[in-house]
Amino acid sequence: MDAAALLALQDIDSALTVITNKRPRLPELVAHRAALAALADHRAKMAAAQARIDAAQHAIETAEKSAGDLTTKRTRLEAQLKTVIAPREAEALMHQIATLNAQRGELDDVELTALEEQGDADSELSVLAAALPALEATVADSEAVLGVASGTLDAEEADLRTRRPGVVGSLSSDELAAYDRARAHFDGVAITRLEGHRCQGCHLDLSPAEMDSVKAVPVGSLPECPQCGRFLVR
Ligand SMILES: [Zn+2]
Repeated sequence: MDAAALLALQDIDSALTVITNKRPRLPELVAHRAALAALADHRAKMAAAQARIDAAQHAIETAEKSAGDLTTKRTRLEAQLKTVIAPREAEALMHQIATLNAQRGELDDVELTALEEQGDADSELSVLAAALPALEATVADSEAVLGVASGTLDAEEADLRTRRPGVVGSLSSDELAAYDRARAHFDGVAITRLEGHRCQGCHLDLSPAEMDSVKAVPVGSLPECPQCGRFLVR
């Protein structure tokens, strides 16, 4: 067993795993996502304000059209009123005109309320629109910062991937198979260092007797940690 080469391969693979785990946890990514969420939230508020403006505009136009219809009716009734002679007929027409006037007054109230609502929504939209560029700039900045952080990881990963085939090439197919098996079994860490009496895989100390049996393993083959079973390099 080429312990040094196996350990070098393990170091490369562990570093690659660290990079893979780091990517979704980059603080720059978290910050960028937060900036994007804030921008989306802000745009949703602007859309809601615009919808209020549009709804108020529709209410204003509807009220104005109905008011126009009422005015047309009233003009007709007023013309009729000038031609009637019978008092009862005149009274009935005057009653109808009074009803139209009351309806017209209600429509004016509706229009006034809609105008106020539109004014409020307009002011809100102006405030939101003024704040939008700053939020867009934050998104652009956080994206640039994330790009730099990701680029650093990309460079580290590219370097590891360039070195890996050379290390793999120095191992036999049996060694590679043992390594892959152990990695799958031990959650990615197949081979680890024995530092002093401590296994760096499971972080447990070996007893003096266990140390003796590890030392007894002949050169060329790798001892296993009696606690966790990982290959140990002294
Ligand atoms: Zn161990």
